[in-house]
Amino acid sequence: MGHLRVLIAGAGFAGFAAAKALHARQSEAEVTLVSPRPNAVLSPLVPGILSGWVCPWTPLISLREALPCANLRIGRLCHVNRNQGVVTIDGAGVRSGCEAAQIDYDALILATGRMPSTENVVGASQHALACKSPKDAVTIRNQIAGAFEAANAEDSARRRQALLSVAVVGNDIRACHIALELRALLSQSISQYPRVRPEDVSMVLIGSGVPTGVDSAMAERLQALLQRAGIDLQGGRVDEVSTDHLCLTDEQGETQRVEARTIVWAKNDTSALALQPIGMHGVRVDVMLRVSEEPRSEDSRLFALGDAASLDRPVDVLAAASTVANNVLAQARGGNLLQCNRSITKVLLGKRVGIGRLGPWLVGGSAGAWLATQTIRSLAPGVWDEFPPPLERLEPIPTHLHVTSPPPVVSTYPRA
Ligand SMILES: Cc1cc2nc3c(=O)[nH]c(=O)nc-3n(C[C@H](O)[C@H](O)[C@H](O)COP(=O)(O)OP(=O)(O)OC[C@H]3O[C@@H](n4cnc5c(N)ncnc54)[C@H](O)[C@@H]3O)c2cc1C
Repeated sequence: MGHLRVLIAGAGFAGFAAAKALHARQSEAEVTLVSPRPNAVLSPLVPGILSGWVCPWTPLISLREALPCANLRIGRLCHVNRNQGVVTIDGAGVRSGCEAAQIDYDALILATGRMPSTENVVGASQHALACKSPKDAVTIRNQIAGAFEAANAEDSARRRQALLSVAVVGNDIRACHIALELRALLSQSISQYPRVRPEDVSMVLIGSGVPTGVDSAMAERLQALLQRAGIDLQGGRVDEVSTDHLCLTDEQGETQRVEARTIVWAKNDTSALALQPIGMHGVRVDVMLRVSEEPRSEDSRLFALGDAASLDRPVDVLAAASTVANNVLAQARGGNLLQCNRSITKVLLGKRVGIGRLGPWLVGGSAGAWLATQTIRSLAPGVWDEFPPPLERLEPIPTHLHVTSPPPVVSTYPRA
């Protein structure tokens, strides 16, 4: 086989995993990775920055270090010409001032994830905080640190309660994860502030009331975990977000006002890529992860995985990456394509909290966390071992740590 030009758009958990899986197969594929930044982000670790057990730079993996064989192109995919097999990447918004460029491909893997969707919600984009990147998590943590300082200076319990009210908007596993880590941050911070009492802090998760994207047994376990942690669950649709409250329509159609000084928007259900044939909720793919459209048949050169892909049921990202790597090569060699059948089996929800599914059994607590962290470790070995100890106290993180690229310590990442 000659050089097979594989282009991967997006270097989040899924794109990075796909590039590693292709590399592990030691094929003659020439892999080009298009990413707005020179790092992969291990997004399941991002909420850990909120409670402080993950350092802000830990989820950032230098792509040049981790994937020395891949061509890295900084920019965003902005147009695909599927007939000619050419993409256009746009360097706009990248500080280095990259030029727009066209790249030919034999196979294109879309791994561009999803974006927070605040479109129809008045005030959401101005007043709610996203939690997608380490930088976002640092911003939220700093806001909470500021709220505790202000609350500690207040004699009025009512004002302290207003300052320390937190809401997370979202239904899925990441929203639950963010809520649990924020709750841990609130609980561990109380003891540092003599005037703040446990009853001054409140936390509500606003969504469907039942976590989505997991099976019913997992959803039940997750719901119990949230309630045990002291998180109120509120069903309903958010209509308006303001500086100190949000308004929602509850399941009975009634309008409700929820006080919240810190509002985190964790509804990521809009496709990050505004391209055809990509819909609002992801690219439709078949079980081999080829982009499929009705009435046209699947596109044999176009694959999608991770949050960018829409499948009938959720699948494990690492299993999907391995399937895509196999199928891209098999397609070019005339080999057999594999189906991606493994559904989500493990989720990380905190330092010592996770849920995993082993066949018919659910594994929770530390065992669940261990299962989930093994997934991340297998993708980025040594990611925890080489970093400075986590931040145990609630301290504002200095602005110089508002990093978009990792500090030099990341160069110790072991070569593949
Ligand atoms: C805060 C958070 C917590 C989570 N917690 C858990 C958890 O506990 N357990 C669990 O199982 N899962 C969790 N997840 C979900 C899991 O991380 C996702 O399923 C997984 O990250 C999917 O990765 P992805 O690469 O598809 O998307 P992303 O990680 O969003 O990566 C997409 C990448 O594509 C890039 N991109 C976007 N547009 C373009 C473009 N036009 N061109 C090039 N690049 C582009 C983006 O910059 C980004 O780097 C969490 C996710 C988040 C965000």
